[in-house]
Formats: sequence, C-alpha cells, structure tokens
Amino acid sequence: PNFLLDQIGTTIFTVMSALAVQHGAINLGQGFPDTDGPDDIIMAAADALKDGRNQYPPLTGVPELRAAVAAANRRFYGIEVDPASEVVVTSGATEAITACLMALLNPGDEVVLIEPLYDTYLPVVRMLGATARLVRLEPPDWVLPRAALEAAFGPKTKLLLLNSPMNPTGKVFSADELGFIAGLLHRHDAYAVCDEVYEHLIFDGLSHLPLMSLPGMRERCARIGSAGKTFSLTGWKIGYVTAPAHLATLIARAHQNLTFTTPPNLQRAVAIGLGKDDDYFLALGRDLARKRDLLGAGLRGIGFDVLASSGSYFITADFSPLGFEGDDVAFCRHITEHAGVAAIPVSAFYPADAPTRYARFAVCKRDSVLQEAIARLGAHF
Ligand code: PMP
Ligand code: GLN
Repeated sequence: PNFLLDQIGTTIFTVMSALAVQHGAINLGQGFPDTDGPDDIIMAAADALKDGRNQYPPLTGVPELRAAVAAANRRFYGIEVDPASEVVVTSGATEAITACLMALLNPGDEVVLIEPLYDTYLPVVRMLGATARLVRLEPPDWVLPRAALEAAFGPKTKLLLLNSPMNPTGKVFSADELGFIAGLLHRHDAYAVCDEVYEHLIFDGLSHLPLMSLPGMRERCARIGSAGKTFSLTGWKIGYVTAPAHLATLIARAHQNLTFTTPPNLQRAVAIGLGKDDDYFLALGRDLARKRDLLGAGLRGIGFDVLASSGSYFITADFSPLGFEGDDVAFCRHITEHAGVAAIPVSAFYPADAPTRYARFAVCKRDSVLQEAIARLGAHF
C-alpha cells in the first residue's frame, strides 16, 4: 500500500541527538537548554501534582493559564485578549502549529511558507491536503524578498506561516517587513499563523513585535507561544495560542481531536511563570546573547564564518572556510563522530535545493559546555 507518511523521515533533531549520544558528543544540535527552568515554577508543578490537579482540565486550558496568557499579551505587546474565548492551551507549540493549520486549512488551499522552515510545517501542510508556496530567504542576511513573497500570494492563498524570531537563522523580521506582510494578508484576505516561540529570546535591545499587533491584523492572526522556550522547560510541552474568538473556536476544535487537553499541573505552574517580573524575561535574551557571543567568537577563531543572529536558541555558521570536503549533512556527522560536537545541517530546513555549507549550533548551553565544544572543534580543525 501507499502511505503518505512514508515520504517523511525521522526528524533531524532526533537523528542528530541519537548520534551525539552514540559518540559521547556535546549536543549543540537539538535546541534545548542544559539547565532546568526556574525552581519556583518546578515546585509549583510538584505542588499541583500533590494537590490532586491530575484529572482532565478544561478543553481550552486551565483558567489561570488562559488569564496569564491574556495578561502577558497586554503587558508585553498591548494586545487586549479575552481569556475565555481567545486563548487555547496546547501540548507544546508543535501541537499548536498543527491545530492552527488544521483549523484554518481546507484541502486545496494554498499556504505561503518561508524557507528555511521549521521541520514540522511542510509535513502538516501536506497531511492536510493543502499546497505549499515556498519563498526563500538567502544567507547571509536572510532579507525578505518582497517581490517573491508577493508573487507567492494568489486567489487560493489561505494563510502565511511566519516564524519570528526564526529557527534556524536567528532572523527577527523588521517592523517594515511585517508591515509589508500585513499589507499582503489584507489585500488577499488571508490569515497568518505566527510561530513566536522565541518571542522572549531576542537580542541586542530588539523587542519582539507580533504581527498580530499591527493595524488590521488582530482578526487575521493566530499567535503561538511556548513555555518550553520561555521557561527553559522544553520537555513540558505547554504551548498557547492567542487568536480572535472565531478562529480560537476552530483551533479548539482541532485540539479536541488531537490531544483534547494538556496536563493541568504543568499548566498551573506555567501560569505562575508568566506572572514573573520583567527582569526575568529581559534576562532570558541577555544571557543567551552572551552565549551567542561566546560560541560565535570561538567558532570564528577556528575559521567558521558565523552569521548574525538576533534571536532564538541558535547561530548558523558557514563551514566552507575550513576546507571540509562534503556537504552539511556530512559535516555535521563528521564533527559529531570525530570532534565530539553535534550540530544540525541547515539543509534539513529546506525540502529541496538547499544550501549545503551551513551548520546550526545551539547556544543555550552552560558556558563551560560551550567552551569545551570550542576546544574540541579547535583541536580537530
Ligand atoms: N516552532 C519552532 C520554530 C521551534 O523551534 C520549536 C521547538 N524546537 C517549536 C515550534 C516547538 O515548540 P514546543 O517544544 O513547545 O512544541
Ligand atoms: N525545536 C528544536 C530545534 O529546533 C527541537 C525540537 C524537536 O526536537 N522537535 O532544535
């Protein structure tokens, strides 16, 4: 028989993490911090577990977390949100992305995606029988090619999926680029699913600007956040969608058929986390920017051409100055097996015709681990 999912391989993040374990390599591949999130949030989850918060919570999320998501929208972006009708809690941003696409797409609809793209987007679009229109950003600057984006929109365009700050490039879309995108969505009567999991992991004094906060976009956008990224608890898988009520109703319908609910104890703890003071959120970007600089300087010292990154867990680097014979997949395997440092080949973020001389490194690790990775790579090249 013919199975659609035969065409989709195991995710590169799992492949490279397994290879890192096999070779005892430092894992700068899959993006997860190597220290836990705040103690008070973890203790709040433990308390909730012991307090009998262990049965099905409400479908769209526990009231405390929906209220906290609405309050965070107001505090950080001035977006007014009704917690009862405009927030849906999901099991991670991964589920949120799938739920939003399920909610908004009919078979035959067109979706505009921006390459390089996170690896769940395209498989889900295909599983839903929709058609992807790909628009490519080019290294080293990853500037939005406006004419190509405009050309990708047409009468069948239902939505654009936008990831900012962006994985793997670290690009933060500028206010001007977002304004251009908003104009296209308006003109084509289209929606946007905004993957904003790295909203607080943003560097150099930049602040995150949700597309949803632009004029006319409040009713067109579903905005996705992730407690995994915001609280360094990636295994918890708590995501949250903010959307106008007519879309949130549909997204909840998708969620009801995917997981139905999300662990209530973890939701309560994340609600407490979202109430932390501004210093907590500012420190996230400040600390990661320092790590970006530490690893970036180390890689440059070895000869990599390191690209700019303004947000996310990641930096990308051109390894061609090192003289390695082979593509990025071969390079990432090689350094995992022979230098003891794992990274992700950037070609994994393209369905076809990918650039092949860039590797993505996660910077969200302890300084000593980043230093050891630099030492290992330096000794090898
Ligand atoms: N979107 C992007 C761009 C990501 O990088 C990730 C996490 N790697 C996710 C979504 C998934 O987030 P979560 O772990 O909350 O499912
Ligand atoms: N989002 C993380 C990354 O880009 C990994 C998530 C996953 O393994 N699915 O590395």
